[in-house]
Amino acid sequence: VSIQLIEGRERHETRVLIAGGGVAALEALLALDALAGGRLTVELLAPERHFAYRPLTVGEPFGLVEPIRLPLAAVATEHRARIRAGTLAAVDADAHRARTGDGELLEYDLLLIAIGARSVTALPGAVTFRGRLGSGELQSVLRDALEGRVGRLAFAVPHVVKWPLALYELALLTAGYLAASDARHVELMVVTHEREPLGIFGRGASARMRALLDEAGVRLLTASAPATVTDGGLRLMGGDFVSADRVVALPRLEVPPLAGVPQLERGFIPTDDHQRVDGLDDVYAAGDATWYPLKQGGLAAQQADAAAEAIAAAAGTELTPKPFRPVLRGIVLTGSAPLHLRSDLETSEESVAAHPLWWPTAKLAGRYLAPYLAARHGGDDQADLRLDDLPPEQGRSGAEVDEDHAATIEMALAAADASARWHDYEAALRWLGAAERLSVVLPLGYAERRREWTRAMQAERARDAGVH
Ligand SMILES: Cc1cc2nc3c(=O)[nH]c(=O)nc-3n(C[C@H](O)[C@H](O)[C@H](O)COP(=O)(O)OP(=O)(O)OC[C@H]3O[C@@H](n4cnc5c(N)ncnc54)[C@H](O)[C@@H]3O)c2cc1C
Repeated sequence: VSIQLIEGRERHETRVLIAGGGVAALEALLALDALAGGRLTVELLAPERHFAYRPLTVGEPFGLVEPIRLPLAAVATEHRARIRAGTLAAVDADAHRARTGDGELLEYDLLLIAIGARSVTALPGAVTFRGRLGSGELQSVLRDALEGRVGRLAFAVPHVVKWPLALYELALLTAGYLAASDARHVELMVVTHEREPLGIFGRGASARMRALLDEAGVRLLTASAPATVTDGGLRLMGGDFVSADRVVALPRLEVPPLAGVPQLERGFIPTDDHQRVDGLDDVYAAGDATWYPLKQGGLAAQQADAAAEAIAAAAGTELTPKPFRPVLRGIVLTGSAPLHLRSDLETSEESVAAHPLWWPTAKLAGRYLAPYLAARHGGDDQADLRLDDLPPEQGRSGAEVDEDHAATIEMALAAADASARWHDYEAALRWLGAAERLSVVLPLGYAERRREWTRAMQAERARDAGVH
């Protein structure tokens, strides 16, 4: 067993070890650099080399988005951190030492556990959608539906799934996809344990979701917790039966055992509201791995921000760390204009709109991570921003702002089409980029046009290069 000292000890900088390479880990990395950059040496311990952006994976089976993969090493280097490949296996908090899966011992002053949770099938027999894992299976369900082998398709939210947003997106995107392919014979339904669809976002959001499902022809069964998938359908917890040829569900989450760290039921880690792990000195935890019941990227990022502030304060910076105070921010991909939802879980203040409610507009609403990702994907002007809520526009109703926003996106899409007609594919793709930044993903159909225009642009460039 080797003991490796994290670089910087000699310079008496505080050594921070972040275990994880997902949303909470990256948000904390960015926040720590902004809050206490010069005082810390930060090391990221993660098993994979790329950050996978999961919130948009719901669009992948429909060809709406290309997978986004960000090299972790690049993010770390840009933020004065180092990266080490490996996993956290155990913590000796008294000795301030972490053991990796390979048996290495790493010394730290402050440790942040941001290892997420692993997804486990919640409804055996259903297609479990876990982001990229499950995308191929869903595509084969869609193929079966198009080819007439599926007459009734159910999207199920079992009672252990507390964050059902992705399932509504899959139902609505499937409806749009099948309608665009003239496969209107397929009956779609959402079967959920919730009393109201997306009830966690409040009454306005539920009403909007009901209307969207209705318009899309998706049947909704609420207060109906799916229990098992049986031949030909779905048995509910009360004993009722809903017939369906195929069932799509979201997974439940759990955290594997982590020696030296207290864990609750299903392995979740208990913390206080500054994200300090119960009973351990100098150990913090953030994200899906913690006890907080709602597992969502925006909340994971907010926990990471609270942990980063507490860590920066512990490292001697002059700031008073703010506790985790959850505000839910969600964007529902609908196949046309996305739905923006915000709910302050403490004050119960809620907003629902077709226009952005925070900026940069992003599904992953991390204060530091959202602007960073926006900048990496062409929004260079957003690099130094911090995600913040947009105030309501003075003197204009939400509906008026919605209309203007939709008109701006339409204008950008029309400009893209016009540029493509003139064979100016570069301009066409720039306009599509602008439309995408305003609407999170392109409407169904434009993703295909983007692929065509990219190919056409490349072919023209190759021709030009051949001529010269
Ligand atoms: C299909 C889908 C759609 C979603 N849509 C949205 C959405 O629209 N908006 C939203 O806000 N959220 C969404 N989420 C949820 C969001 O992705 C998660 O809540 C978020 O990723 C949690 O962040 P995290 O950092 O805690 O965990 P993760 O992002 O899962 O990261 C955990 C990291 O820790 C690493 N790791 C695991 N074990 C160890 C170990 N022992 N040691 C070191 N590293 C380890 C993992 O490899 C990974 O890098 C969605 C999730 C899914 C699956």
